[in-house]
Amino acid sequence: MKLLLVEDDRELRRTLADAMAVEGYEVLTAASLSEGMALARHADVDLVVLDLGLPDGDGEALLDALRHRQGTPVLVISARQAEGQKIRLLDAGADDYLVKPFSVGELLARLRVALRHRGTSVHAAVTRYAQGGLEVDLEAHRVALHGEPVHLTPTEFRLLARLVRSAGRVVTHRQLLADVWGPEFTEHTHYLRLYMGQLRAKLEADPTEPQRLLTEPGVGYRLVDTD
Ligand code: CA
Repeated sequence: MKLLLVEDDRELRRTLADAMAVEGYEVLTAASLSEGMALARHADVDLVVLDLGLPDGDGEALLDALRHRQGTPVLVISARQAEGQKIRLLDAGADDYLVKPFSVGELLARLRVALRHRGTSVHAAVTRYAQGGLEVDLEAHRVALHGEPVHLTPTEFRLLARLVRSAGRVVTHRQLLADVWGPEFTEHTHYLRLYMGQLRAKLEADPTEPQRLLTEPGVGYRLVDTD
């Protein structure tokens, strides 16, 4: 697996590149947008870790350039907190978003998830989920919690299925609403709140302290995937 790390902070670049190399990845590094663009164009990379604030431009430009090349996941790392921007980048095709400072362990976990989903459409591939006593089999339409079958309504099942297909990754409100209810429902975030509450009531030990169906404040939801 060949990774491209675009980060202008020298110390952070070295720390992350070392950690990735220890995990067995081949790592290419770029300290600027132009360098990143050139490497992304000419080297065959499996995944890009992308900083946004670069000396010669915004990392978002590289995301735009990569969008046309399907199957190369992009993990954005940025100090920028703004929810609006996170949503825009995720909807623009970024696979995930980590706000600095983050732990190296967290980055490596997100890398594994992104690489596992690489090149797979959200409507294919992942059909099973089994973590922490929750088992979901999308093909068989079966959900079980600690071995006991759980009855879900059709909408609850579609919502859970959408999260299973992107397990470990944040899915934006807009993506969930479009995929579960339809493109004309992308503003109806109250549907999501309602159905997520119902799912949590059925699948979480304590729905007020969710351990599986996590909220990404202002952005969306993530089904835990600890690998
Ligand atoms: Ca930077």
